[in-house]
Amino acid sequence: LEPAYQFMVRLRIPGGVLDKHQWLGLDCLSRLYAERGLRITTRGTLQLHGVRKPHLRPLIQGLLPLGLDTIAACGDDSRGVVCGANPYLSQAHERLQKLAQITSDRLIPKTGAYADIWYRQPTPVRDDEEPVYGELYLPRKFKVGFVLPPVNDVDIYGQDLGYIAVVDNGDLIGFNVCVGGGMGQLDNREDSYPRLAEEIGFIDADEAPAFAELVMGIQRDFGDRQDRHRARFKYTLDRLGLPWFLEELERHRGRPLEPARGIHFEHNGDRLGWQQGDDGLWHATLYVESGRVDDALRTQLGGFLQQYGGRLRLTTNQNLQLTHIEEHELEQVRWRLEDLGLDWRLTPEAQAAHTLSCVALPTCGLAMAEAERYLPELLERFQRLKGQYGLREKPITLRLTGCPNGCARPYLAEIALTGRAPGLYNLYLGGSFHGDRLAQLYAGNVDEERFLALLAPMLERYAGQRRDGEHFGDFLLRKRLLEERPLTSLSS
Ligand code: SF4
Repeated sequence: LEPAYQFMVRLRIPGGVLDKHQWLGLDCLSRLYAERGLRITTRGTLQLHGVRKPHLRPLIQGLLPLGLDTIAACGDDSRGVVCGANPYLSQAHERLQKLAQITSDRLIPKTGAYADIWYRQPTPVRDDEEPVYGELYLPRKFKVGFVLPPVNDVDIYGQDLGYIAVVDNGDLIGFNVCVGGGMGQLDNREDSYPRLAEEIGFIDADEAPAFAELVMGIQRDFGDRQDRHRARFKYTLDRLGLPWFLEELERHRGRPLEPARGIHFEHNGDRLGWQQGDDGLWHATLYVESGRVDDALRTQLGGFLQQYGGRLRLTTNQNLQLTHIEEHELEQVRWRLEDLGLDWRLTPEAQAAHTLSCVALPTCGLAMAEAERYLPELLERFQRLKGQYGLREKPITLRLTGCPNGCARPYLAEIALTGRAPGLYNLYLGGSFHGDRLAQLYAGNVDEERFLALLAPMLERYAGQRRDGEHFGDFLLRKRLLEERPLTSLSS
């Protein structure tokens, strides 16, 4: 007799694209096997929580006919490749999604062990079965992302390898490449820190999949295999230096990179509500708080999909898109969303749409403080505070996690709270609204009363002294409001 172990099962869904049958199949599997339901993650995929050990194999076998699996969703490998573009908006968006898919196919492990273990399909082991990974796989996970400006919805500067699309006259011509981003850190190690990816140059679009294999191969060969915490690519770059990396890259690639092209981001949230693609089809992005697909939402979506075709897409801001709605269906779809009680999700409060939280307690074993369960209260109090200064409608990126690991990408937000102990958080401030600047640790181990008290005078000054269009994080830096820190113990 062994303990009743429970697991989280994370799916691989490159670019977050699902058809209706996949969604309905997943709904059914989650009701059968996931006691704590379904959740959209900040890498645009789905997690099933509370899966008991005896249910793991039937669940993973149930994914097979849906064309889904969990390969490379966890582990020391390429992790799910994220793509921040709704592929149905334009030809450039569609091509970006295809390149993300090809890159994912190229980078995922090829071992037959997965089919052997989960599907009971024994596969003879070949010496060359892992051409990309070799025998040892990677020292740690390796995250790849694709994004299409002006929307930085995947937080491209938080990826190990990021591709920023350069579009000319509607054609995707290539990518500015950035390397070495990463969020995770430990509060008790000084050599542990979040890092912003650096743009290193430009490549042609078709080169992206092979280029990813090349960069990941350098990390495979030079990443730290002694100290697991220091094994991420960001530390390899800092240990050996960017010039070393560029030389190594050029040696393998046979030529230097072209200079990066000009790009411009406007924000790192999702565009909620309706959008029409170049082909005339409509797409609706629905807000899902903390990505939690609870029973009510599952039932509402099931009801919608029974009646309408179309597809779905999961975003890296934990929201859900209903795609491929024909012009002649639009009116009826609007009514149906209203009937089902889904219409408010098209136009949530701006602040909610710019807020992320991780799952934390009681589901994540690493959590030290609440996140998802505390978010509604936090949002209400934060909005009340902003309301005192007339800022209720002004979104400020806010992220909340149960530990410093950074699953909700806190260090790229204008305001972030990372859990230290029940009810206590480290407060980070000063990230940018575009997701291209790291926030700074401002106060350690603060409770709600304290961090709201610290924010109040800053919000008051922001309300009265900001420039046109100036975001909160930029204002804090311009006014040097982060230079004097309060007398609270910073984490060590
Ligand atoms: Fe768990 Fe920490 Fe990640 Fe939150 S940030 S899901 S608490 S590991």
